[in-house]
Amino acid sequence: MRKNIVPFSFLALTLTLSACKNEHSEQNNMKETEEIAENNSDIIVDRFADIQVLRYDIKGFENLSLNQKLLVYYLSEAGHYGRDIHYDQNFKYNLEIRKAFETIVGNYKNEKNEDYQKFLTFAKQFWFANGLHHHYGMDKFKPEFSKEYFQKLLKENNASLSNEAIEAIFNPSLYAKRKVKDSNKDMIAASANNFYGEGVTQKQVEEYYSKVIDKNDHEPIEYGLNSTMILKDGKLAEDVWKSGGRYGKAMGKMIENLKEAVKYAENEPQKKALLKLIDYFRTGDLKLWNEYNILWTHATEGDIDYILGFIEVYGDAIGKRATFESVIEINDFEASKQMSVVAANAQWFEDNSSILPAHKKAKVTGVSYKVVQVASESGDCSPSTPIGVNLPNNEWIREKHGSKSVSLGNIITAYDKASGPGMLNEFAHDEEEIERGKKHAALAGKLHTALHEVIGHASGQINKGVGQPNETLKNFASTLEEARADLVALYFLLDEKLVNIGLMPSLEVGKAEYDSYIRNGLLTQLQRLELGNHLEEEHMQNRQLVAAWVFEKGQKDKVIEKVIKNGKIYYDIKDYNKLRVLFGELLREIQRIKSEGDYAAGKALVENYGTKVDKATHEQVLQRVKPLNIAPYSGFVNPTYELVKDANGKITDVKLINKQGFVEQMLYYGKKYATLI
Ligand code: ZN
Repeated sequence: MRKNIVPFSFLALTLTLSACKNEHSEQNNMKETEEIAENNSDIIVDRFADIQVLRYDIKGFENLSLNQKLLVYYLSEAGHYGRDIHYDQNFKYNLEIRKAFETIVGNYKNEKNEDYQKFLTFAKQFWFANGLHHHYGMDKFKPEFSKEYFQKLLKENNASLSNEAIEAIFNPSLYAKRKVKDSNKDMIAASANNFYGEGVTQKQVEEYYSKVIDKNDHEPIEYGLNSTMILKDGKLAEDVWKSGGRYGKAMGKMIENLKEAVKYAENEPQKKALLKLIDYFRTGDLKLWNEYNILWTHATEGDIDYILGFIEVYGDAIGKRATFESVIEINDFEASKQMSVVAANAQWFEDNSSILPAHKKAKVTGVSYKVVQVASESGDCSPSTPIGVNLPNNEWIREKHGSKSVSLGNIITAYDKASGPGMLNEFAHDEEEIERGKKHAALAGKLHTALHEVIGHASGQINKGVGQPNETLKNFASTLEEARADLVALYFLLDEKLVNIGLMPSLEVGKAEYDSYIRNGLLTQLQRLELGNHLEEEHMQNRQLVAAWVFEKGQKDKVIEKVIKNGKIYYDIKDYNKLRVLFGELLREIQRIKSEGDYAAGKALVENYGTKVDKATHEQVLQRVKPLNIAPYSGFVNPTYELVKDANGKITDVKLINKQGFVEQMLYYGKKYATLI
């Protein structure tokens, strides 16, 4: 639950999230148009449907030692070998569909006719989403070419595809949504994802876990994290993802590459963690996953780090089963040093938070924060990526051993370079707000991410005897957790403390973040939603929940004014200090809900403020965004790494090559890393 995605509001284009995918803000708006035009061609790799694909830079790779380069290489390889797993998790026919698409597109690179172009766009959407459903909205893509045309393509290219898979593509009433979040439905049966076998119902699964989970266990495992739940002889059983088990072939290749990585570990703690991860992948034992996470959390010394495994549960409607993901990271020393003051003051932030004293941690443990450069990503982090991540997710490990937070610096930089000032100009209420955004939004976004990850997710404690949020708050847990982390960031962004410790030049930075957060939560993020739909994605729910709640509660004091100018809606913040107080009040309430496990109150907040969308407002946002031609979603191609060997076959170097196009990369990955089809 901890990716920080780019909220797009901010950036115009891009933004983001995730698992706690934390999103990006409007930062980019600040760049001069000329500069953007100059940089765009290097950074924007592809543009189709609602997507743009960007390229990130890695600075200083050549300065790493050979061992460090090899560590990056083998970790990246391990990550890429998990890619197939994520496709299969998303939908049972994804892998065979992907193979057919690879065959066709591989043969037809220069085909120009209109039908083919429509097919190609569809294939690109599919690759970007790691499957047949939109990566963010979860709806199945709609082909704009006919079944007959597709069958002709298959035949001409000797590609085969089952009738079931073809039906899945063309019949709109089948498998309509990858994840259905609707408490009135059987969310497991209604979701198209592949975490549960045929015939498994939500009721059965909930009963199963109510029996299995020991509420008195103070060091619980993350139940269900790494298995497909199937019916075996009429009974529920977990088909575990491990070598020799389900996804065994992919796991085997991952283990092989992790073993190589172990040889180049930078230090003992890093090595021990990697060895434990291998053990866990070999056995699928979630106790080992806990042990691994403790080792990984304490391994903070190296220059290279990584996130790799089944981690985030956003893909599962009931939040148990995790998608595969990997992010391989190289420390950005200079930027990390600048931000180190945030983690250094973690206890101060906890002590001065607006939450109830009983819910505060007496001692904030081991929050480490780094700004890193991404070296490669895979699975659920690619092509769409978070901009910040805070792990591990298991609450008791976080409370006892702390957590590691990273901001993905080169990803944020690429977002910033690719975006223009369009959204800010269109949606800001007045010149002052635009000027403030241009001047401060980039820094404001970075600070929001840092505070959200390092202070936000790490803050607070659950009352004794109250279970983990995914048990107590169930399907509302992720939304509430993201809201909580955002609120911690917002609360402190208007605190003089940040000026005093040198993180920002003045409170104007905090005001810029307030402007953009309200704009995004009440207006601009709706550009990502299809007209007529409710909000379901957790980060979008959380942002609207926060913005709509403070707007409503501040009405009698006119904290935020809704202004209609020439028929267009704007929100103008009239009193920043009072708004801060409201953020603090909502933070206190959401922390209480988490600490006490108050499901009813959590549900009411999400349903009353974070779900429903006013249709006329939504329509207007879509109309205002359209002429700006901004892609609501961005993602990235990765660089490739090649081993350089001498005449005797000895490895002498690792070469970084950063030139692949999007389709080229998808075909390359399909060829090189396919393990499950
Ligand atoms: Zn988060």
